[in-house]
Amino acid sequence: MTARHALAEAAARLAFSATARLDAELLMAHALGIERSVLLLDVHRETPPAFAALVERRVAHEPVAYITGNRGFWTIDLAVGPGVLVPRADSETLIEAAIAHFGVGAPATILDLGTGSGALLLAALDQWPEATGVGVDMAGAAIEIARGNAERLGMKNRARIVRGGWGGVGGLHDLILCNPPYIALDESLPEEVARYEPPCALFAGVDGLDDYRAIAPLLRAQLAPGGAAILEIGSTQAEAVTALLGTQGFAVTPRRDLGGRPRALVAT
Ligand code: GLN
Repeated sequence: MTARHALAEAAARLAFSATARLDAELLMAHALGIERSVLLLDVHRETPPAFAALVERRVAHEPVAYITGNRGFWTIDLAVGPGVLVPRADSETLIEAAIAHFGVGAPATILDLGTGSGALLLAALDQWPEATGVGVDMAGAAIEIARGNAERLGMKNRARIVRGGWGGVGGLHDLILCNPPYIALDESLPEEVARYEPPCALFAGVDGLDDYRAIAPLLRAQLAPGGAAILEIGSTQAEAVTALLGTQGFAVTPRRDLGGRPRALVAT
């Protein structure tokens, strides 16, 4: 069967996904061992036998990024797996906010609290080639994946990945990035998230604010003068998290994602 035909069939079976056609193309490119852009130049090639099993995994709602083992984020490509959250386009809002904060300047030092795959840290280091940074995570699987990503991206000597919590690693950092867990316990999530992604990276108590309560009092001691701490938030949490940061003496500016929802808070 040609790829063109197999893609149409697969996309129909993946109708539950908001990105059914894209999912099918990414799986086909993965099965062929080529870039999606190369696949799209010639969809009349033969479908490889491996494609069917990949589609079955996606039909069971497994995230495409876990099936292919990688996901693009900002300007970089990251290896990902079940131990870390799949990097989301929403989180690129934090990088945009950081660029807006520093303008023509640049942070010299970057701290990523709860780095997971290393997405935010490594994207920021790609943005500012002179910067160095630290990614902190509690989870062993995350540390391993983030270290692998730093190495593959040639950033091993600029990115240190260490085990730790919201208190970080000491010292002052020009830019602090943080995408903490912020889902409320009773919130319903898409099956691909609920069944496959690590609960420790998602859930934060009954109201989803537990980790912000822990983080807010610890930020000032880690932030260099003139710097910014940029936190991802759930789209309904801007007010509550702004208040938490406000009691710690921060001025807070929200930034919206591409869907127009408040997605990041810039605390200075
Ligand atoms: N944005 C993610 C989701 O909606 C949650 C990420 C997080 O809790 N930090 O699934």
